[in-house]
Amino acid sequence: METSRRNFLKTMGIATAAAAVFNPANLFANNPAKRNKRGGSSKLELAWENFTGEMKYTFTISGSSRSSTPIVITRLTWDGYTGYGEAAMPPYLGETQASVHEFLKKVVPVLEKFDNPFQIEDILIAVDAIATNNTAAKAAVDIALHDLVGNIIGQPWWKIWGFNPNNTPLTSYTIGYDASDDVVYEKIEEASWTKVIKVKLGMSEKEDKRMINLIRSKTDTVICIDANQGWKDKYYALDMINWLAERNVNMIEQPMPKYWLDDAAWVTERSPLPVIADEACQRLIDVPKLKGAYHGINIKLMKCTGMREAREMVSMANSLRMKLMIGCMTETSVAISAAAQLSPKMEWADLDGNVLIANDCFDGMKLNEGRITLEDKPGLGLTKKKGIIKL
Ligand code: MG
Repeated sequence: METSRRNFLKTMGIATAAAAVFNPANLFANNPAKRNKRGGSSKLELAWENFTGEMKYTFTISGSSRSSTPIVITRLTWDGYTGYGEAAMPPYLGETQASVHEFLKKVVPVLEKFDNPFQIEDILIAVDAIATNNTAAKAAVDIALHDLVGNIIGQPWWKIWGFNPNNTPLTSYTIGYDASDDVVYEKIEEASWTKVIKVKLGMSEKEDKRMINLIRSKTDTVICIDANQGWKDKYYALDMINWLAERNVNMIEQPMPKYWLDDAAWVTERSPLPVIADEACQRLIDVPKLKGAYHGINIKLMKCTGMREAREMVSMANSLRMKLMIGCMTETSVAISAAAQLSPKMEWADLDGNVLIANDCFDGMKLNEGRITLEDKPGLGLTKKKGIIKL
């Protein structure tokens, strides 16, 4: 009797050990010894801090220009581990540092319902349900949670997702509009390192063609075009695309207003270049609606609530045979490194946000001759720079 009981306990011990090895949640959440070693709180704790991204150059797109971007950096801690996140808020998208604070205050009691960070799905569904919109605030929680869990598991997200780090794309670098030819020449010079130039068009035909002609007078580097909804007629849009296609341009982002799906479909059907939805594509639910109207979608973490939904958009676009691009707002290395984790699945990347700001508060994703690199570092591979933020 005693022997069989001992055998029973032995077998159970082996089963428990096996579960601990194969389930990361058990490995840490149910292992008090490990937790005590780190000495941290067993509560998921969220903190945040305002940050202003100072831009190296005034940034002009069709409709607005600015020289700084309001950002909120988030920090999520659990059991002695830390993850960082970010909400970046270009003013035209409607979120502010104050609205992010309000949202994050409501996230705190939601996090209290979870005793560990591994239930990413349930946690982020609960966060998404707090309020509609607030996509950048939601991304700030999502990114911090992914960084935290990646740091605990000790692996980067590109690896957890099973992506090939050798498949990363080149990133484009934006040359913004300027009325002065000399300033545009300076910007072309500054961009001499990039292998893909991104140009924001959507002003008058004269100014749009002037920008392209100025660039082409100096370099043959391939160009991506973003019209930011600026072309207001489908015949004109197609004429412009045909003109651009003869000037080593490789894609067109959001040529016309986002609600013009029939016109977009008309242009896409006739366009010699891939036509990609940006403003028209916010979240996962938008992707199937855009099939046929565009060749592909531009995913941005600040639009789609973060890495979890972005990963789902990749699967959805793949299943619909749509092309993929990843973009960014003006963001620090926190959100850029988060977006970079998805980059092996992307045909185009526009992840120059951290290069465009003068006061990046983190080290993260690096470019190698314009190509995104993914390192074998846990989480998002972030290192906080000293003395810039308090968090
Ligand atoms: Mg765009």
